[in-house]
Amino acid sequence: MKVLVINAGSSSLKYQLLDPDTKEVLAKGLCERIGIDGHIKHTPTGKDVYDADRYMPDHEAAIKLVMEVLTHNYYGVIKDMSEIDAVGHRVLHGGDKFVESCIIDEACKQAIRDCIPLGPLHNPANLMGIEACEKAMPGKPQVAVFDTAFHMTMPPKAYRYAIPTKYYTEDHLRRYGFHGTSHRFVSKRCIELMGAEKASRVIVCHLGNGSSLSAVKDGKCQDTSMGLSPLAGVPMGTRAGDIDTCVAQFIMNKYNMSADDCLTMLNKKSGVLALSDGVSSDFRDLDAAAEKGNEAAQLALDKFAYEVRKYIGAYAAALGGVDCIVFTAGLGENSGSMRASICDGLEYLGVKLDAEKNKLRGEEVIISTPDSKVTVWVIPTNEELMIAQDTAELCK
Ligand code: AMP
Repeated sequence: MKVLVINAGSSSLKYQLLDPDTKEVLAKGLCERIGIDGHIKHTPTGKDVYDADRYMPDHEAAIKLVMEVLTHNYYGVIKDMSEIDAVGHRVLHGGDKFVESCIIDEACKQAIRDCIPLGPLHNPANLMGIEACEKAMPGKPQVAVFDTAFHMTMPPKAYRYAIPTKYYTEDHLRRYGFHGTSHRFVSKRCIELMGAEKASRVIVCHLGNGSSLSAVKDGKCQDTSMGLSPLAGVPMGTRAGDIDTCVAQFIMNKYNMSADDCLTMLNKKSGVLALSDGVSSDFRDLDAAAEKGNEAAQLALDKFAYEVRKYIGAYAAALGGVDCIVFTAGLGENSGSMRASICDGLEYLGVKLDAEKNKLRGEEVIISTPDSKVTVWVIPTNEELMIAQDTAELCK
């Protein structure tokens, strides 16, 4: 079976064509600057990369270009589009309507539309991707996989905000959580690797440009650090993470800033970028600057590790202990120094890192010592594979 996985943003569209059974990736790529001018980078496995400026007025044009390169006689990996069995879409916000992935029909699209107030930046773009595929590939089965769905098993004490009930019942304001496909993929993989009993209480640390943690009991999410939006939780590349709402009120009043502008500042100009006084939102740059003695960059790294460590402590309390901690995503998979600094101080929980194993990067590996009470893993995430597997399952 071959599944085309699509992650549509407002002016970009990422794709991957893969076989969910063999896990073989046939091609992947990125269309950028859709609606502006257009650029595509297409990477077919084992063949030359196609990297070109190509005009893409809208998402439908982008999908048509993806179809062109996938079937191209030089850069292509399939003869024609009939070889693709189904399309899986990453959708940001499923609200409280979707507890799992679903086949896309009119009702599903309307539900995604209804969630636009909750995901105003992403859901419209995700819908554009879906509708573009419908037009370009009529009749091809399509599946929506939601970033929020894995977290829908949280109990009310975890997902409710302590604000008047009507904001929950009428406006659906609650903790939703994101990166759900990644949290599901790595927690499931951890259970496969350890067995259900030894991976009963798992804390997943998805640490990348955006970061979130989740507390998973017997494969089901109990709590997660992001909230109504991806702004909550630990500080991130450019997002502030958890913050006292009065900080926003103070800034808006003093600087005559609108709520939307203040939110843009908290989402795009904050996090480790702000803490490092503008050095970078990228942890590699922060490492390099801190190494050269930049104190602000060091503070950003320390604060990030400290807040992640605090969440691990909180989730160990929420789960009544912890069997496994799993690091994943760009930073979690690649930065041994960040993993060490997060775990430094978790000895009381029974965490003991193996310094040599912790140097390994980007592979599935246990980085704790054999006598560590908590098994610490690095498990590379694979959201595209999870989306393709869900799509295959639903389109059988
Ligand atoms: P992601 O959002 O999952 O793609 O992760 C991207 C982030 O991972 C980048 O912003 C980097 O800060 C971080 N990252 C990737 N590789 C490394 C590395 N070797 N050392 C430190 N940070 C890294």
